[in-house]
Amino acid sequence: MHSSILQTPLAHDRIRCEVCQWRCELAVGEVGRCRVRSHHDNAVIVDAYGLVSGATIGPIEDQRLWHFFPDAQVFSVGGYGTPLVPPNVASEALPYALLPEKARELSPERVVEFAQQRLCRGVLWTFGDPSVAYEWTLDGIKLGRAASRFTAIATTGYFNPELFAQMAPYLDGMRLDVYGFSAQSYKTLTGFDDWQSIFKIAAEARQKWNIHVEVALHVTPGVNDSDAEVAALAKWMRVALGSLTPLHILPNRVGDVQLDDATVQRLVSTAKTSGVSFVYGPAPHQITRCPNCTWVVVERSDGPTQLTGVIDDTCEGCRTPLGLRTSLFRRNVRYELASS
Ligand code: SF4
Repeated sequence: MHSSILQTPLAHDRIRCEVCQWRCELAVGEVGRCRVRSHHDNAVIVDAYGLVSGATIGPIEDQRLWHFFPDAQVFSVGGYGTPLVPPNVASEALPYALLPEKARELSPERVVEFAQQRLCRGVLWTFGDPSVAYEWTLDGIKLGRAASRFTAIATTGYFNPELFAQMAPYLDGMRLDVYGFSAQSYKTLTGFDDWQSIFKIAAEARQKWNIHVEVALHVTPGVNDSDAEVAALAKWMRVALGSLTPLHILPNRVGDVQLDDATVQRLVSTAKTSGVSFVYGPAPHQITRCPNCTWVVVERSDGPTQLTGVIDDTCEGCRTPLGLRTSLFRRNVRYELASS
């Protein structure tokens, strides 16, 4: 049985779980907002430690990390629980949100062994959110790093900053799933008020720990699809994460309504003119061009991804740095951030 790694006893037999930014205060028998932790036996217990909601092997590009170990095979694995169930979505609609009566168990050791046996270059912790599957993810990431696998997470960024700082030294990559760049969008789509704390986690990942970050903006028609909001996100990315940080613009369907292609292309172009060099829409295979000389540097297709115009992580045509992460040993290579 695993207890929450950070918890604080309160008056009247309540305990506050400090693992993610919701900081749930739980009476005896109560379950946290993530639905995978509960208060019993005088502690907040991680009911979902090691229980697997999904596991798959494939190219890292399938997981929307496009500038991170291109063409690497990755073992993507994840548990249950999410800090984020949008107010208008039943948690039952999210396959990883609710803990089933029976679930397959995979120890962190077995996850890493499996990745090695299947010749995967790394492990991506995804599906259920690593910010609430924290202890299992942390144990696995440490073991993965010790086994020379790259380590990455796909997350909404709800980490308690103190706990993220414990994980960050072992982490190579992060896909940050965001729901806009305003209090109103976050309140509408996630019910969460302190939206800026999510972006602070990503800035710290990039600036303090030099973790490779890619941002996936989930666009909901009528909520976070304005040019002003996308421009604000792109400007923040340029300053906080660097202009070479990829942005993926991914439309969400609401009922029968989905963003049309013209709107998606307009948002892509808005993000580019606001300072982010690499902006991708939802299509699965897109080429990457050098932001300076437009040379084709990465080609993606149904087959293997090809670094056709890359030399030593720079453009073959003009030697402009591209900000690709291609080696565990190049983690100390830093790209400059914009000054404003
Ligand atoms: S991890 Fe779960 S129980 Fe703990 S604070 Fe977050 S939502 Fe609440």
